[in-house]
Parts: sequence; structure tokens; C-alpha cells
Amino acid sequence: MDGELLYDGVYRFADYGPMGQVYVYLIIGRDRALLIDSGYGGKRWDKLVAKYTDKPVTVLITHAHIDHALGARFFQDAYVHEADEKVWYESNDKAFLARVLSTFSMPDCAESEREFLLSPETVVQADRPLPRFFLGRTEFDVGDRKISLVHTPGHSQGCCCFIDEKKGVCFTGDTLSKYVWLQLRESTTLAVFEDSLRLLKTAFEKHGVTTIYPAHGEKMPAIETIEKYFDLIGQIRKGTTFQKPLHHPLVPGIRHVGDGVSLILNDPPRW
Ligand SMILES: [Zn+2]
Repeated sequence: MDGELLYDGVYRFADYGPMGQVYVYLIIGRDRALLIDSGYGGKRWDKLVAKYTDKPVTVLITHAHIDHALGARFFQDAYVHEADEKVWYESNDKAFLARVLSTFSMPDCAESEREFLLSPETVVQADRPLPRFFLGRTEFDVGDRKISLVHTPGHSQGCCCFIDEKKGVCFTGDTLSKYVWLQLRESTTLAVFEDSLRLLKTAFEKHGVTTIYPAHGEKMPAIETIEKYFDLIGQIRKGTTFQKPLHHPLVPGIRHVGDGVSLILNDPPRW
């Protein structure tokens, strides 16, 4: 659970829950700190973060799914995109949470980490106020650097990516990684996702972004990854992709496999 120093004041933490492993990123600036996502909510992130910084912390949620949003309640200042308001309420539904958490047990962890853990009952019963909305806000200044926000609807309507302009790095949540789920009820059409990728590519070029850090999986090259998705979408349009069913109990779909990247879509794809 201890944070791994990625570069200049930026740490990465792994969290675990029913949807598997997810990464949470902490950016410590000169005046303030930002927590990108907040995990499943089964951990006292406020106490954990306090081991790394005493600066005021703002939580920026990439989107409102349970593996990203539920730990925000430990901080006074948290934001989510307004287009994910409905997903936020669905993620916080107590009956839904009780059901998904009943099948999960935390992997073994060190004694030093256990002090931060909460019981599943605590997570289910916790009251989580709706975070603030971004409402057109495009950057967060932490003193020695600016983190800019790009709204990238696709995986969900309210997905956002956050760019560390000084370091040419982007935290992409579930918008961009080795695989992208677009088969969900709250996902957009492929055409909207493609528009988001275009917007992101323009932002990457403007800010010299070379590396992305997704919420699931390791870092990847920025522009090259976007180009691979453009290629894959082109193949989907032509109907020439290699396809494999994704047998997921809650959100099944069809996996379209590209060059080291995959898109999970409905059958047939929604344009
Ligand atoms: Zn998600």
C-alpha cells in the first residue's frame, strides 16, 4: 500500500476491490496536493496521504465508478464531473455495494497497512456527500505546476483526464489504457469516444505529453496509444477486427483486439 515515487512529488498507490486492482495518484505541489481518484473507499486515504504531505488535499475523480470515487468522502474538497452525477448515485447505492462487496476479501497485507483498512460494512453504510462539480473548470494550480483537465466522455459520460503540464504526463483514469470498456449503460457511442481521443491528442501535443498513467495497468506512451485506438476504430468501422466475447457477470461485451489495445463494445457496436 505504500506509495511508489514515480517522479518529482508524484506517488502511486495500489488499491484492491471487487473490480480488481486500481491505482490512485498523489501529486504534491509547492502549496497544495491533488489526489487523482480515491479507490474503493475501504481505506482511510486521509490518514494514508497525511504520511506523505501536510498540504491541503483536493480529490479529482476521473469518473464516478466505485473503484475510483468512494474514498473521496475522507476529504473536504473533492470534485467529479457533473455528467457522472447519476453514476455517482448508482455507485453509492447501499444495496448494490452490499452485493458487490459480499464477494470480495482483501488480499493479505502488511501490519503497517492494516491500520488504514475499514470493514466492508463500514464502506456500505458510510454516507458520501456528492462531490463538487467541475462546471467548466479547466485547471488546478498546486503552486509549482498546473494540472489541466480534459473532459473525455467515452467509458462514462463524465470521464476526465488530468495533465501535469510541467512533466508532460497525463493521468487517464479508465479513458485510455491497454483496454477500454465502452459496453456499459453509461458509456457513450464509439463516435463520441473517438472525438474525446482527438481532443486528448490535441492536448497532448499542446502540452508535450509523452506518457500516460492509467488507473488500471502500467504507464504507456501517450500519442502512440491514441493512434493505436484510431487504427482499431478504423478496423471496427470496416468490420475486420479480431473479436472475443468478454464473459463478465455484470457487464458482458465483445472484445475487439487491436495492436496491444482492446475495445470492449456492445454487440453490435453503437455508433
Ligand atoms: Zn470505470
